[in-house]
Amino acid sequence: MIEVSHLTKVYGDHTAVYDLSFKIEKGQIYGFLGPNGAGKSTTMNIMTGCLSATQGSVKIGGHDIFRDAMKAKQLIGYLPELPPLYLDSTPQEYLQFVAEAKGVAKKDIPEQIEYVMEKTKIKHMRNRLIKHLSKGYRQRVGIAQALIGHPEVIILDEPTVGLDPMQIIEIRELIRELGKDHTVILSSHILSEVQAVCEVVLIISKGKLVACDTPENLEKQFAGFVTVMLEAETSAAKAQEILQGVKGITETTVLQDEDGRCRLKLGSRYIVPDMFTSAIFKAFSKAGCTLLSMTPERASLETIFIELTQDAQENRDVSEEEIQKARQQSTGAESEAVAE
Ligand code: ADP
Ligand code: MG
Repeated sequence: MIEVSHLTKVYGDHTAVYDLSFKIEKGQIYGFLGPNGAGKSTTMNIMTGCLSATQGSVKIGGHDIFRDAMKAKQLIGYLPELPPLYLDSTPQEYLQFVAEAKGVAKKDIPEQIEYVMEKTKIKHMRNRLIKHLSKGYRQRVGIAQALIGHPEVIILDEPTVGLDPMQIIEIRELIRELGKDHTVILSSHILSEVQAVCEVVLIISKGKLVACDTPENLEKQFAGFVTVMLEAETSAAKAQEILQGVKGITETTVLQDEDGRCRLKLGSRYIVPDMFTSAIFKAFSKAGCTLLSMTPERASLETIFIELTQDAQENRDVSEEEIQKARQQSTGAESEAVAE
């Protein structure tokens, strides 16, 4: 349905997105997950034809978003990070305007407005000025305008930002509902949100794609990151000394250290959890120290997310050479395409 190939975006001397490639299949809910500044909005703006790319291509249903913009754009509905709502108009007037701008046939407009208002549950607010609507309802109006024209793909940039918990739950429900009839791509910097609504997660960090899979597979794939909680009959200092002989410990947190007992949390990069726990057991046994308990925990998606995005921060390896290369290969004038 969507094919993004080798997308790079350079702003001045800053590379916001670097060599990003992925495919979006029809009929699923995709989550673009990444910390602030990761390049999510930049990628979405390019995918929807609102921003030019320095390099790379985007195809929507086989149509190039730059060369065949009309056809490609017909297939997508977009809710940008800052939706261009006209505060002094009502949802009814605004959706009428959007439908005309999108070229919906005049006779179909009333029916389309009814349909999108029904879907987003804003019928009872149709004649209220947008500036008098709550943030949650404004977001619904934003999603309603994305739905005008029955696009196959709905792209939502941080749709729940700034909403209160109740509104977040409602918008998530709406997104799940939309997922039944559309391919949905949403971005978020909140892991739990992506986990709650998305079937496929694309983790993006510093403009690069660092993982793409179902939440379950990501957990399986990174199951090697084991955390172990252990309790021993010794001081934390002594336990840490014993653990120096155990390979693969990435971090140690002392949770408790009193009356000759300690509780520690260990992070590791061990591939096989059993090997890690057995190495710990042997080290304590050799030192003649009593291990009271040891509980290995598999990495949660949360840990994976932190791990992956931190790694990318450490290996900030887009070199100046790569930037220059991307610039040289950049075709045409670097003008920011204007959204219709
Ligand atoms: P996200 O949506 O993931 O928070 P963005 O795509 O907005 O990330 O931004 C990615 C990076 O590009 C950030 O470092 C941001 O500061 C930078 N950036 C975004 N827009 C511009 C712009 N118009 N000019 C210069 N830098 C920009
Ligand atoms: Mg953003």
